[in-house]
Amino acid sequence: MLSFYPGPSKVHPEALKFIQEAFDQGIVSINHRSARFEELLKDTLEILHVQWNIPSDYTIYFVSSATEAWEIVAQSLIEKQSLHIYNGAFGKKWAHYTQEIYPNAQSIAFDTQEGLANMYLPSLEQVDTICLVQSETSNGTGQTISRAMFGDVLIAVDATSSMGGIELPWNEADVWLASVQKCIGIPAGLGIMICSPKALARAEKLGRKSHYNDVLLMEENRQRFQTHYTPNVLSIFVLNRLTHLLPNLSIIDAQTRKKMKTWEDFWASNTSWGLKCLIENPVLRLPTVLALQGDPTQIRLIQQKCLAAGIELGKGYGDWQANTVRIANFPSHTENDIQTLIQLLTHEL
Ligand SMILES: *Cc1c(COP(=O)(O)O)cnc(C)c1O
Repeated sequence: MLSFYPGPSKVHPEALKFIQEAFDQGIVSINHRSARFEELLKDTLEILHVQWNIPSDYTIYFVSSATEAWEIVAQSLIEKQSLHIYNGAFGKKWAHYTQEIYPNAQSIAFDTQEGLANMYLPSLEQVDTICLVQSETSNGTGQTISRAMFGDVLIAVDATSSMGGIELPWNEADVWLASVQKCIGIPAGLGIMICSPKALARAEKLGRKSHYNDVLLMEENRQRFQTHYTPNVLSIFVLNRLTHLLPNLSIIDAQTRKKMKTWEDFWASNTSWGLKCLIENPVLRLPTVLALQGDPTQIRLIQQKCLAAGIELGKGYGDWQANTVRIANFPSHTENDIQTLIQLLTHEL
């Protein structure tokens, strides 16, 4: 089975070898307060900084999922009020869970065909934290993240389906969060949170330590190269080896964009399925997830044809369930994988 689902998605084939290695070396049984774990965590944080070009004063934490990271932002970093600006299902869910903690959390939805940069913002006077989605996996939109729009607030960004696949402007936000089963291409069960010094300063100012996963407790542990709870050591190991193996993110970024261009050109010239890019303006498309819109009958047909050939495409999500299909374009998806799918789509309709 070859999965183009936008998460969980195709796992890097090399992961199998690394899982085997983790067994052979006894990594799967190590204690998270042992010297071996501390070495592993230290090296993982270092190689991520190097390969993903993360500023040296930003700190990286391992949590269980992107969803958990949403909650950590609310519990540890929002002072009084957040504003959620979103155009799809994941941004809406993040706003919902935050509103359960802060009933006064504000949200604004914007049109999928409009960029975040064109948004009309309400007064931000009461708002201390802005929550944005860089990679809206549900509809394939990708936003340009920039501090310039917002003034002196904390900015938290969900990049779950783009982190590891494109370069992200780390300095333009204070919290970047993701989980590993999408663009990073390893099995589910690990989340990543990357924080700026400003985010840590906010955590210090608020001084919250009542949740096991409050940022201050995660940071105390990180300084000793430990974690606040027994983490998914196997996934951390696989991520470590994979990050050592893959090229720098600037190179991956160029590959991702080239592969997406292949898809855009294909769908512009192949009209037999009657599908077109859901997002009209190419600048607003997420390079890592392509959403295609069409007649629900054709959408069902293409899914079935691919499944019969052992290829899984992404179903439509939320409001777009019936009339869209999504194709993940993650680093695990090779040019060969793409050609395999293209062949299937162009022959014997
Ligand atoms: C998948 C996804 C999530 C949730 O990830 P989990 O690993 O299930 O917590 C959050 N945000 C976006 C944009 C996603 O694509």
